[in-house]
Amino acid sequence: MAKFYLIISILAILALPFWIKLPQGVYPIISNFALLPLGVLAYLEGFAFGLIGAAVCILSFFLYCLYVNVKFASSIPILFAFGATPIVFWVLKSISKNVQYSMVQDLEKSERRVGVVREEDTKKDGETKELDKKVSEIATLYEITKGMSSTLLFGEIFQIFSEFLKKNFHFLTCRFILAPQDQEVGQIKKVYKIESGSPDSVAPESIDKEILKEVFRKKAVVSMKDFVAAPLMSQDRIIGALSMNGLNKAGLERFLIVSRQFSLAIEKVRLYEKVQKLAITDGLTGVFVRRYFLEMLKEEFERSLRHQFKLSFIMIDLDRFKECNDTFGHLVGDVVLREVAKVLKQNVREIDLLGRYGGEEFSLLLPETDKDSAALVAERLRWAVADQTFKAYDEMLKITISAGISTFPDDGSTGMDLIEAADEALYKAKTQGRNRVVLKKG
Ligand code: GH3
Ligand code: MG
Ligand code: MG
Repeated sequence: MAKFYLIISILAILALPFWIKLPQGVYPIISNFALLPLGVLAYLEGFAFGLIGAAVCILSFFLYCLYVNVKFASSIPILFAFGATPIVFWVLKSISKNVQYSMVQDLEKSERRVGVVREEDTKKDGETKELDKKVSEIATLYEITKGMSSTLLFGEIFQIFSEFLKKNFHFLTCRFILAPQDQEVGQIKKVYKIESGSPDSVAPESIDKEILKEVFRKKAVVSMKDFVAAPLMSQDRIIGALSMNGLNKAGLERFLIVSRQFSLAIEKVRLYEKVQKLAITDGLTGVFVRRYFLEMLKEEFERSLRHQFKLSFIMIDLDRFKECNDTFGHLVGDVVLREVAKVLKQNVREIDLLGRYGGEEFSLLLPETDKDSAALVAERLRWAVADQTFKAYDEMLKITISAGISTFPDDGSTGMDLIEAADEALYKAKTQGRNRVVLKKG
């Protein structure tokens, strides 16, 4: 469109003297006005158009010279101006184009640089965020590890862990399935509901068994949609599984790290309980050692004193055990001792305390029990042992026990009084022929 207007304006200026009679000599001046549109034409539409424009101007000037009868050659400067104008404008355009081009290039370069800087910025932002996330994860991990290592009690560890999971994970249910120590595959020892926060075990469900079985089979994480079960490991052994329902993918890695910390804590509790048990139980018979038994006796004595409860004590001794050793050997004697202890344990209540008082002597404490009831217990034990045929290696043998009974408050006011009184009664049982129960007469 611009081109069209320019051509029209050039032609209009050039055609001026042919329809308006101009005084002689004015036209060369007027025709100079065509130089500007001519230049603009060359600038906008290129050199070729400029030259055509210049040719049209020169032609119209030639016609004018004929028309007014002037010598064409006398107007050389004007003709030169017509020829030079498109060249000048075209050169101007090239220069400006070059300048524009380098400016555009500079601009593009700057834009590219800004883009790169922006990209680096976003990357750095992302890295910082990732780093922040990692730091906060490590901090929470440190927090849970510190919390769980501050205690050796299962109940406390369970509560710390449960609180931590509830605070840091989004999930529906979480179960801690504990396998038995002997690792019988598919067998469950206990199941705990983490979300309940209570360290009391719950009844296992059939799914728990399946989960544990799968974890044992795969020896790795079992996951499906939003369900995950991680094996709890201790020294390459699977001690159980931690299952979670409703966990999103983002939390999976953290969950696995946390479950490893939990298994470490559980193993520590188990070891502690094992050491504690070892310290208070006799290696051969599995009953309490004398030292621990005496501690318990003291505590029970004080409790009975406070509440005015009766407390009975039974001293049990294997009859003619030396003969057993002499005849069958010490190894057989050991088996008999262990088996007798088993029979005794099976025939007393959970709250009764059975200890190994000496070589082949057992002490039994019966809280809240009077002498007559204690006598019934002792008779039951005597019968149970006498009834049994013990198999030790290739030997089958029988053994009997004698028992002496004393009771608080009838036979003394301290634990030692009770022991001495029961010893005295036991001595009587021995002298009266063994395999019998004798009560201390109050
Ligand atoms: P009584 O009926 O008078 O109690 O006779 P007894 O032979 O049982 O009594 P005595 O005290 O003379 O012998 C106890 C024996 O118990 C002596 C000892 O060799 C044996 N003994 C003590 N501790 C152990 C043990 O840990 N293993 C074995 N195999 N024998 C033990
Ligand atoms: Mg003895
Ligand atoms: Mg004996």
